[in-house]
Amino acid sequence: MSTALGNHILVEFMNCDPHIMNDVVAIERDMVGAAQKAGATVINSTFHHFSPYGVSGVVVIQESHLAIHTWPEYGYAAVDLFTCGEMNAWISFDHLKECFGAKSYSAIELKRGSLNLLQRNDFDISTMRSRAAEWRNPDFYTRNVWFTDKDEDQALSLRFTGEVFFDVQSPFQRVRILESNKYGKMLALDDMVMTTEKDEFHYHEMISHPALFTLGNAKNVLVIGGGDGGTVREVLRHPSVEKVTMVEIDGAVIDACKEHLPAIAASFDHPKLELIVDDGIEFLKNASAGAYDLIVVDGSDPVGPAEGLFSVSFYTNCYNALKENGILVAQGESPKFNEKAFAELNHTLQDIFGKDNAPVSLFFVPTYPTGMWSFQYGLKNIAHPKSIDKAESIDAFVAQEGLRYYNSDIHTGSFATPNFVKQLLKK
Ligand code: SAM
Repeated sequence: MSTALGNHILVEFMNCDPHIMNDVVAIERDMVGAAQKAGATVINSTFHHFSPYGVSGVVVIQESHLAIHTWPEYGYAAVDLFTCGEMNAWISFDHLKECFGAKSYSAIELKRGSLNLLQRNDFDISTMRSRAAEWRNPDFYTRNVWFTDKDEDQALSLRFTGEVFFDVQSPFQRVRILESNKYGKMLALDDMVMTTEKDEFHYHEMISHPALFTLGNAKNVLVIGGGDGGTVREVLRHPSVEKVTMVEIDGAVIDACKEHLPAIAASFDHPKLELIVDDGIEFLKNASAGAYDLIVVDGSDPVGPAEGLFSVSFYTNCYNALKENGILVAQGESPKFNEKAFAELNHTLQDIFGKDNAPVSLFFVPTYPTGMWSFQYGLKNIAHPKSIDKAESIDAFVAQEGLRYYNSDIHTGSFATPNFVKQLLKK
């Protein structure tokens, strides 16, 4: 006869595999597995992946709960195995030790709710039992696996199904294709959302069409990055374009998107496309002067391989590689998330292209932190995109191509900047 209501094993798993400690899908699977292996009935699981790293989660079981928080940088996991009834949580302990590859550990077992210290209240418990039957089906439990893209002060979390279609650590970054409940499949690089099936068109239509309509007759286009393929897909909608050169540093991104995001990666076999897997920074160093009508920098955030895509030398090389009348468009970060990178990039473009030749267009991407994002322009002897009077041809093109974000109002409206943004851009 148990003398306590519950049994609590506090576990310290040490010298674990840091990659497992940072893998929300593996940890959710192993924690649920640990409960089921000990014969528990799982009610639901809620797991969060934090960027830059670390996982927190809890598996609620009919017999109480199993909880975990990881520090991948220490190869460490703090685990709580709280059970009541006959369940032997040491079975879960053994399962997790093995799954996490823990080379050392410490564990303390505590009795919780000592019966000689508690007074039982008498009430009819029969009503409780009925629902329990539902939970007996081991596959029937709600999974809440969350992917969180955050900085120190703010975050964006997307619930995903727990399914991982692609997970490769490339020489440059971790490339994953996950399935989110609301936005479909998504590409994540390291732990940042890059693009999703349901809102990618916001980004890809706005990085391409405003500049191409401003130029009117662009022929030769260079795309740096853009490994998901969405930008070249949109650029190649314009009949004037004769050649697109795309320079993506990471072949794993192209492979992942070709296989799992085919609607975005739809134009990788287009006859007008030259696809080069190389560092865009090196490519621009050797690019011929005055070669391109349009240069699109569809790079990731200023960390890892993309750090150099925010440098003065890179944009100076872009300026030189543009024709006399050319446009540069760059993924410009957000005035509300990474404000510093946003402002610094624009100051760099103002220095290189001229104070009045570095406009910013703002647009919305629900799956980027804050949802407010920007493209930053460098205009080389070209009038401001707002100044063109092509509403009719823009809207005809929009109707013909079935575009879902861009239109003639958005073309102009996206260059309207709120006062706090004007302040940020002031040099
Ligand atoms: N929409 C995304 C964003 O706003 O962050 C960008 C999407 S796109 C997938 C970014 C691409 O830039 C990635 O595939 C990444 O591998 C690529 N990239 C990063 N640094 C690069 C570099 N130095 N040269 C070429 N491609 C680079």
